[in-house]
Amino acid sequence: MAGFKTLDDAGDVTGKVALVRVDLNLPMDGGRVTDDTRVRASAPTILELSRKGAKVLLLAHFGRPKGQRSSTQSLSMVIDAVQDVLGKEVMFVPEVAGPVVEQTVGILRNGDIAILENTRFWPGEEANDPEFAKAIAANGDLFVNDAFSAAHRAHATTEGLTHLLPSYAGRSMQAELEALEKALGNPEKPVAAVVGGAKVSSKLAVLKHLVDKVDHLIIGGGMANTFLAARGVDVGKSLCEHELAPTCEEILDAADAAGCTVHLPYDVVVAKEFAANPPSMRICNVHEVAADEMILDVGPQAVEALGDVLKTCRTLVWNGPLGAFETSPFDAATVALAKTAAALSKEGSLVSVAGGGDTVAALNHAGAAADFTYISTAGGAFLEWMEGRVLPGVAALEA
Ligand code: ADP
Ligand code: MG
Repeated sequence: MAGFKTLDDAGDVTGKVALVRVDLNLPMDGGRVTDDTRVRASAPTILELSRKGAKVLLLAHFGRPKGQRSSTQSLSMVIDAVQDVLGKEVMFVPEVAGPVVEQTVGILRNGDIAILENTRFWPGEEANDPEFAKAIAANGDLFVNDAFSAAHRAHATTEGLTHLLPSYAGRSMQAELEALEKALGNPEKPVAAVVGGAKVSSKLAVLKHLVDKVDHLIIGGGMANTFLAARGVDVGKSLCEHELAPTCEEILDAADAAGCTVHLPYDVVVAKEFAANPPSMRICNVHEVAADEMILDVGPQAVEALGDVLKTCRTLVWNGPLGAFETSPFDAATVALAKTAAALSKEGSLVSVAGGGDTVAALNHAGAAADFTYISTAGGAFLEWMEGRVLPGVAALEA
């Protein structure tokens, strides 16, 4: 991607009103926030603007209220969590535009922070209505987007505002874009990609894009079964999308033509029932899977070989677990390869970037997340980026 403007380009913001798009779509249970990771991600941006004397108005969506007010999806519910993370008092404004916001701006002192109401209460948000964006922009002097996770949507507060106000990437957005650029935009070679997870169908576009970009494509998880089946392996009762065999052939041919080596497992962990530590569990060659068995993880020999592949690489991008990692011991391959990648990253020989909801959970479970170069918490936006798509919220920030 081309360059983009950051907070370093915003000049003196003292007394200016900064409209800051953040991700406050926090997981809740019984009215309480259960995970404040997303708030912590944007805290540096919010606090930097506050410290520099801006009046900070936070913009975010919450849930899917479909263009109308909904008492169960008000951003007033996240105020406590945001105050806890920021260590500062935060005001709540039950509007995103109009006189109430204008009055709030009037009483805010430099450095004060307020959260505006859920942007998706208004249909103009998802419709990217220019009039709606104009009404929001009327109360701001600059726009800062710190929500990479929402950047795959062209909405009023991710895209529309950039046409109306000087716009900058926040620190979290900046870190994400820099990491993604290092991983696939302009990576140090050789590059490896791990693509796992349940289904080929959900990641077809990712696989097609990656074969042209990476030197090694490591396929694991349920999707490996579909590739193995396409190659004539009998995968028994495994999760498998048999109808996608021709698509898998195409991807394998494209990889061949592009000089990308595709790694499929040659030993696997199988069981007759899907449960923790099932008595029927065994390790076998992919050609020895019985009709009543299912493949639930990549085998130990294949994992060791994959670790050796990573040792020859300088860059790794990872989406999707290698096995059904939620159920022990089918987490073994994911944990082992994640630990190898983490160790290589820690010693500085590998730039490793990972993303995806289950992937982040799996890397945390492996105790490997902290040593990865960068972990993206953006689900949909990360996948669209891996598909090589232009994200409208990112494109809008390009200088
Ligand atoms: P992400 O959320 O990181 O993008 P996915 O949602 O694509 O990842 O895939 C994660 C799911 O894939 C996990 O729930 C995992 O249990 C499942 N999975 C991985 N390998 C297998 C397998 N061999 N059989 C069945 N499910 C699998
Ligand atoms: Mg998932």
